[in-house]
Amino acid sequence: MMRRPHGFTPILAAALAAAGCARAPQPQAPAAEKAQTKFGVPVKAGPMDALLLKDYAPASSLVVPETHIGKARFPVIDVHSHSSMNAMKTAADVDAWVQRMDEVGVERSVVFTESVGPAFDRQAELFLKRHPGRFQIWCGLDTSNIEAADYPDRAARELERCYRLGARGVGEVTDKGWGLQSSEKDALPRARRLRLDDARLDKFWQKCAELNVPINVHIADHPSCWQPLGPNQERTPDFQAFNLSGKDVPSYEELLATRDRALARHPKTRFIFCHLSNQGNDLASLAKVLDRFPNLNVDISARDYEIGRQPRTARQFLTRFRGRVLFGTDMGWERKMYEGWWRLLETGDEYLPGRIWWRYYGLELPDDLLKSLYRENALRLLNWSQQ
Ligand SMILES: [Zn+2]
Repeated sequence: MMRRPHGFTPILAAALAAAGCARAPQPQAPAAEKAQTKFGVPVKAGPMDALLLKDYAPASSLVVPETHIGKARFPVIDVHSHSSMNAMKTAADVDAWVQRMDEVGVERSVVFTESVGPAFDRQAELFLKRHPGRFQIWCGLDTSNIEAADYPDRAARELERCYRLGARGVGEVTDKGWGLQSSEKDALPRARRLRLDDARLDKFWQKCAELNVPINVHIADHPSCWQPLGPNQERTPDFQAFNLSGKDVPSYEELLATRDRALARHPKTRFIFCHLSNQGNDLASLAKVLDRFPNLNVDISARDYEIGRQPRTARQFLTRFRGRVLFGTDMGWERKMYEGWWRLLETGDEYLPGRIWWRYYGLELPDDLLKSLYRENALRLLNWSQQ
């Protein structure tokens, strides 16, 4: 009978066979020896080897205080929500959302309709009439026929029309590499895609400044999207659909450069780059960009997993840029979702479960900082003029 190295099992044999290794490794192979011990712990084969990564959900044995916060400590303006994501179709849907907002302490929600024309008009009607003061409605950016000569004027004109019907901002405007408001399915050839710094948008950004409406922009995406899917991919399999590695898109850095050029070109236009401008993994670099461009603001929506994994650095960042960071959710309207945010921002709880493989740590923000993050910055940076 063939001698097997210690720990060599049928599972490993099957894996080797699948990888094209016809022969079992020799007992003296240094790689095989190394693999058997990691940080002094002997690594032996077992049932865990057959587990799929997507199914790994460890149960924590840690016993530490758990604080339940049903309602935010101070009134909140949520500057980042979506009517489509929240499936808001009828007045009853909106009524239910308002009730939830009351329960969790959200005074107002900014709703990105991402629409123009009649679709925008319907949403304005749905949100503004029935619950005055509870919602701010933002319109989209018209990106139809961007290569037509009339496009720059047409886009600016439509913004003005939506403004008259109640739009008080533009959002969410997204370029993950396929061009603004485009996806892999409908993208133009790369050189013809519409970018933030495109001269065809000059009139539009100027109109935003004139009407004093901010724009919420999603530029690039989490940097892990540009890294291949595989054993070193940072985010869990749930996020794999967003991966851009090897796709026909500019690099992460090139996309951030379109942001910087747009900010420089339109100093009077107020931009809010969402998700910490997709630089939540590197707040020192984001700080440099904020120092450079006074018209840049950011929201923390959907980046609970960034601030939660670096609570001390995030708290310092939020303190330093206290006038320019806005609170937003971007994650639906479930009660648990809101409560997760309050716990993360208000408590010092440790090892909080979230929606990614790593755990979060509460930031324990002081009251004055919470007030500016939750509400005061939005009151100052958004347009609250009446229709
Ligand atoms: Zn969003």
